[in-house]
Amino acid sequence: MTDFPSIVFDVDNVLADSMSSFCRKASKLLGFEVTKQRIKSHKVVGSVPLSPQTIFKLQSEVWVDWQNISCIEDNLSQKMCAFHKIGFEVYVATATPLRLIPYVKQWLEKNRVLYSKFFHCQRGRRKSDVQAEALVDDATEEVRSFISSGRLGFLYLQPWNANAEVSKAILVRNLDEVLKYYGVVRTEDGEYKNARWSG
Ligand SMILES: [Mg+2]
Repeated sequence: MTDFPSIVFDVDNVLADSMSSFCRKASKLLGFEVTKQRIKSHKVVGSVPLSPQTIFKLQSEVWVDWQNISCIEDNLSQKMCAFHKIGFEVYVATATPLRLIPYVKQWLEKNRVLYSKFFHCQRGRRKSDVQAEALVDDATEEVRSFISSGRLGFLYLQPWNANAEVSKAILVRNLDEVLKYYGVVRTEDGEYKNARWSG
């Protein structure tokens, strides 16, 4: 018995801090520090003086080197568990190239991110093609497309989307804010509870 929805989580820069790994690799290559603040789009091209091919290559290297990708938030596993426990159907979706999918799955396993379905959105497919009621993503076009089909879109704030305007998007700085939207709050002892019914 649940009235919580199925919710899709994007992987890159919503669960996994792959942009920080990218910035480290780009800094090494360029000889100066590239920070996340400098990145103007989740696709990166145009944000750093590197060709699209080099950027693409570095992004692949980031996932090949998956063991060095941090979680975007502390206690990520616990937070994702909270979604399950409260009654959400948790899905994970990524648009990363097919050959990198095994690394993404290993990363999710190592960081104990539980999910009931995994979706690979490639070749023109969008997260909005996933049958789910809500999406958490840092890519404005994915959130916009999801919302345009009458569903809930949470825009996970990152330097590259902070100034974007996505009509009807729910802006969140962290996953606790997504839970809070549904009335689930973190108590002082670190547990999550549904505050809607318990008053
Ligand atoms: Mg992303």
